[in-house]
Amino acid sequence: MGTVAAHGLRKSFGKVQALDGVTLDVPDGSFFVVLGPSGAGKTTTLRAIAGLEKLDAGSVHLDGRDATGDAPADRDLAMVFQSYALYPKLTAYENIASPLRARRCSSSEIAAAVERMSSLLHIERLLQRRPAQMSGGEMQRVALARALVRSPRAFLMDEPLTNLDLKLRVEMRTELTRIHRSLGATFIYVTNDQVEALSMADQVAVLKEGKVQQVGTPAEVYERPANQWVAGFVGSPHISLLACRAEGDRLVGESWTLPRPRWAMAEDGRPLLLGLRAENVSIEQRGDASLPGELYGLEPLGDRTVVDVRVGTEILKVKARPTVTGVPGERLQVTVDLDRAHLFDADTGLSLS
Ligand code: ATP
Repeated sequence: MGTVAAHGLRKSFGKVQALDGVTLDVPDGSFFVVLGPSGAGKTTTLRAIAGLEKLDAGSVHLDGRDATGDAPADRDLAMVFQSYALYPKLTAYENIASPLRARRCSSSEIAAAVERMSSLLHIERLLQRRPAQMSGGEMQRVALARALVRSPRAFLMDEPLTNLDLKLRVEMRTELTRIHRSLGATFIYVTNDQVEALSMADQVAVLKEGKVQQVGTPAEVYERPANQWVAGFVGSPHISLLACRAEGDRLVGESWTLPRPRWAMAEDGRPLLLGLRAENVSIEQRGDASLPGELYGLEPLGDRTVVDVRVGTEILKVKARPTVTGVPGERLQVTVDLDRAHLFDADTGLSLS
């Protein structure tokens, strides 16, 4: 069992089942991301672990000990929220020092801790400034330093980068992973941003409607999604799903057939969805894994262009060179890398690959 383990968490608010049996085992020292859309139950999960939410059922274990009934203050967990207000009248140094002062640490202990944290976050030159004399991003760093200056059992972070502009957000992702490595602490980090999750996590738990859909490394969740929903939620552009059936050695869609891959374990005639990521499809005719379509739209993204190809009545997204051109309606042939394709049961959504 990891540092933090939650088993069968259930919580409803009136008619809303916010948590419907959430189980998570967070390995010691890991950067564990809880990923899901708005309303999935991420914040409620974090609050339940922190002891801020009274559960209908389930248990929380900390370092192997049942802590379900413990008060929040007795759990030795630090919660970092979206907006962390600094004390306006205190300097950055005093803001960072405040949690340690509250714990009656000595001045030399405080000085050492503030120095370490400000060097980690590159804010040494800001220490004598007050919040009004700092930019938003600088304040965010100071606030993060204040949250991280303690050494709790684990840090619980609820979308802490939400209020930053995109450039700073991307920078802070790298910072946070670097800080995580150097502190060696356990981070449980909630986000609805799959890019953030994939770029920072050691382990990701994907949550939907109060249920854990999959737990795995970012690569596992991206390359081996447990179901159609996870496949669609993780990855940008989103995965294309084409309706089809297996017929002998073929996969047969509305307007196409492809050789049936060896791994495709589905009974003939069963409704399926073929999942294709944009990077595993190319606009060219090559080999026998190719299908006919017509150009529907182009989305230039600088380093690449995403081409929407209409296949029958469905749209297939294809990652192409930035120089690709074409006119809507133009007929073309696309080739798919079937070894990297996914197959889902259309009724249950479960992966068959
Ligand atoms: P977001 O990304 O929007 O913050 P979330 O995944 O963190 O969403 P939660 O805040 O955990 O989701 O909420 C899960 C569900 O429980 C939502 O439907 C929400 O409306 C509901 N909920 C959460 N807290 C309360 C509350 N105190 N009272 C009533 N309903 C609540």
